Amino acid sequence: MKKTVLVSGGAGFIGSHVTVELSQAGYDVVIADNMSNCDETNYKGVCAILGRQLPFEKIDFCDAAAANDLFNRYKIDAVIHFAAFKAVGESVEQPLMYYKNNLDSFLNVLECARVHGTNVLFSSSATVYGEPDETPVTETSPRKPATSPYGNTKQMCEDFLRDCVAAYGMHGIALRYFNPIGAHPSALIGELPRGIPNNLVPFITQTAIGKRECLNIFGDDYPTPDGTCLRDYIDITDLAKAHVCAVTRMIEGKMDEPYEIFNIGTGRPVSVLELVNSFERVNGIKLNYRIAPRRPGDVTAVWADPTLAQQKLGWKAVRSVDETLASAWAWEKRLAEAAE
Ligand code: UDP
Repeated sequence: MKKTVLVSGGAGFIGSHVTVELSQAGYDVVIADNMSNCDETNYKGVCAILGRQLPFEKIDFCDAAAANDLFNRYKIDAVIHFAAFKAVGESVEQPLMYYKNNLDSFLNVLECARVHGTNVLFSSSATVYGEPDETPVTETSPRKPATSPYGNTKQMCEDFLRDCVAAYGMHGIALRYFNPIGAHPSALIGELPRGIPNNLVPFITQTAIGKRECLNIFGDDYPTPDGTCLRDYIDITDLAKAHVCAVTRMIEGKMDEPYEIFNIGTGRPVSVLELVNSFERVNGIKLNYRIAPRRPGDVTAVWADPTLAQQKLGWKAVRSVDETLASAWAWEKRLAEAAE
């Protein structure tokens, strides 16, 4: 019997890649999205990659009745929850909007999961580690007070899941993503930032294509080898595959504990300048960039110890930074062609 996975936020950047990997691994996938922060590009791309239409449900998980109705209509074995606002700066300006949306929607998902006995996978983030005292970070490294409402919602949702698992006999996994980048090798799905991108790689590709004049590198006076910040950039397809491993672990009853947390990163720190240089070299492009002041709130260095995911999930990042940056560029070029 094929198992069914509900992917909330399945038309977004990470959700669409996860949908592809789950489907290719033999799961039935139901995509649910309210389309508030994306268009149909990725949904269509997913269907093109798979060569078939997937069930799509336009739903806002803040609507408890609609969420409940969805869980009644499908027999869902696991839900992966991505549906959330994700702009750090915006969350500082509009905390209530972020708390209402990101917390309410997850609470409704948890309530449905409790009633229907569904496994829950929550998309958490390395932001929970803040500026770590030691690198690389393991899953037992302390969480630091969040520096934005967005970061706070990630911590709170982790706690919601932990407490529900403890109280209701549910099973849940939180995956803490480091910096997901790149696009599907087909260039049919990828990141679609609204307005001016906050994240480094979309800003790089938009600068390369001519949409942005110049990339600002935020600070070159950090205490790192070249003075720019260190991050753990993880290929989006690698990251998506981790979800297949985690869902399978839950569905097959292979968990050691009913609530587990895994870092999803490469274990490889890369500086902003290194990433920019790799992008230039791999794609044969000279990027227009300048050194700008530090961006408030940025941490100096954070990267994963991914050992636990390797041991327990049997998952490991395999794609090189070069391959990933080539895929990001192929996607940006495809978007430009589509816009012509
Ligand atoms: N960054 C940059 N210029 C940009 C965007 C980001 O120099 O236009 C740097 C940022 O300061 C950080 C790194 O790139 O050191 C990754 O930032 P991003 O926003 O992609 O992810 P974060 O780690 O902040 O979640």
